[in-house]
Amino acid sequence: MYGSPLVTPSSPPYIGRFAPSPTGPLHAGSLLAALGSWLHARRHGGRWLLRVEDLDPPREPPGSAEDQLATLARLGLHADGPVLWQSRRHAAYAEALARLQADGLAFRCGCSRADLAASAGIHRGCITAPPADPRAGSVRLRVDDRSIAFDDAVHGRIVQHLASTVGDVVLRRADGLWAYQLACVVDDAFQGITHIVRGADLLDSTPRQIALQQALGLPTPHYLHLPLRRDAQGRKLSKSEGAAAITGQNPLDLLRSAWAALGQDPADWPGGATPEAALAAAVPAFDPVRIPPDPIGGASDTVRHCDAGHSSGLLDRG
Ligand SMILES: [Zn+2]
Repeated sequence: MYGSPLVTPSSPPYIGRFAPSPTGPLHAGSLLAALGSWLHARRHGGRWLLRVEDLDPPREPPGSAEDQLATLARLGLHADGPVLWQSRRHAAYAEALARLQADGLAFRCGCSRADLAASAGIHRGCITAPPADPRAGSVRLRVDDRSIAFDDAVHGRIVQHLASTVGDVVLRRADGLWAYQLACVVDDAFQGITHIVRGADLLDSTPRQIALQQALGLPTPHYLHLPLRRDAQGRKLSKSEGAAAITGQNPLDLLRSAWAALGQDPADWPGGATPEAALAAAVPAFDPVRIPPDPIGGASDTVRHCDAGHSSGLLDRG
């Protein structure tokens, strides 16, 4: 079965991506998402793009983005086109926001967290009397009273009722920074992304992003959320932990380890003289069906989210 074509002449084009935030060096968890999205794209005869999500300067140490891109290149993970930098995309986000506001789908909000807690999340004043200064406050997407559902290639059917769980989605923060959800949706459409393969820590962002795609009249890509990597104690790898380990390690060892974390048989890892050679040989052996929902050797937070309804009933499995 390995080597069987997953793409036929009539299949729509596949465009995938990896979109790291440059908040530190690439770590083993982000490598898993990079490799998983690369293999999935290549296995389907698709293209793979890179996007730097550099929209939060206070959290981005200088040089982190360049360092991450250099690490990806050292691992043989080369993009099929120019890197998209979100810090150069402000005009596109402003245009999307203006369209939502003109369509009555987004509103300016002056509520604090305490205000929203006191009103059970209802924006009593904001819609009828928004903040007087147009630059003040945040801008939010008005969510409908309906559930958003999608089929994740690993986690199955996911259903979320946004109004009762997360409320109206922030699009531009009160400090003026663009919210991740808006920038991600605008740029996935701009780059023509058809398949989003990323870590399961973003599983509960997906219904918000689908609601936003619908409000903007944009297509919804296919989704596959990868297991999160754990350290030896079973804790989620943060950007600081594990970062030192990846910079000092042999690229071929890192790739083989990420291959196993993707649920692939270590015996199928072909190896090679260079990362590029190993990756090219790995593509026909990669089987997306083997990707586990939980990290190898431990239960994931994601599954606990779903079973326990997350912290506030965020996600349900249909
Ligand atoms: Zn409000």
